[in-house]
Amino acid sequence: MDLGIKDKKAIVCAASKGLGKACAMSLAHNGVDLVINSRTASDLEATAAEIRAATGRTVTAIAADITTAEGRAKVLAACPAPDILVNNAGGPPRGDFRDWSEADWMKAVNGNMITPIMLIKSVVDGMIARKFGRIVNITSGSVKSPIPELGMSNGARAGLTGFVGGLARQVARHNVTINGLLPGPFLTDRLRSGMIEAARKANRPLEEILAERSKTNPTGRVGDPFEFGEACAFLCAASSGFIVGQNLLLDGGAFNSTMG
Ligand code: NAP
Repeated sequence: MDLGIKDKKAIVCAASKGLGKACAMSLAHNGVDLVINSRTASDLEATAAEIRAATGRTVTAIAADITTAEGRAKVLAACPAPDILVNNAGGPPRGDFRDWSEADWMKAVNGNMITPIMLIKSVVDGMIARKFGRIVNITSGSVKSPIPELGMSNGARAGLTGFVGGLARQVARHNVTINGLLPGPFLTDRLRSGMIEAARKANRPLEEILAERSKTNPTGRVGDPFEFGEACAFLCAASSGFIVGQNLLLDGGAFNSTMG
């Protein structure tokens, strides 16, 4: 399927690893030139080199913390007029809400709500003027089905989703779409580190924890980040202009519901 986005320009945030990297790779395979970002320069440069080698596209690496105004300014300076924006950042920590301070909440809301909103604000009017824009927010299955120990993720991401639900309908007539992509369990460093911790606490091998986790999913496995990247590229397709303000849950069917 030709997605019709060859030679478009994308910013993909938090993309040296995991889901962000998979989105960047899939977009580049579809002919998109990239500005990718994460904090650790060495990891980011390695990922940029890998994507260039695999796709032949231009990949500019901007090492910066995307949750800061300075970090966002650096990324936007490298790509002031993107056609595609993939919002992503690290997720808030697990825990008990009684242990979280006001500063902890501010950090979570900044990273998972304010940061994507500020980036959208910076690019959306240019997209409207150019009559093409695709914005994908990587959020979490927790937006639909709260995960008790991830209260800050549940809250901050739901806030983003609510705001975007309104904005998406204001910009859609200009062929600018904003959608959420909600990951369930995908085998990235983040999921792996959670399972390593669970294995350590239970004094059991990691493979057992992974097998157990896989068994509970209707697919009998966890997700491959590649699958996530391909879904992101699809939402960014030229022919996806009628997919507006949606929240696509990629969880192998773990959320049990007849529809929606
Ligand atoms: P990951 O494998 O740990 O990768 C995170 C990426 O984000 C890395 O490239 C990391 O690089 C970068 N990053 C983190 N904080 C950043 C910041 N402040 N500025 C710029 N880059 C930053 O994580 P993932 O599994 O892909 O998860 C991506 C997002 O999806 C997270 O918000 C996560 O909570 C959410 N999610 C994941 C799953 C899952 O199953 N994997 C499920 C639900 C939700 P540096 O550390 O070098 O910056």
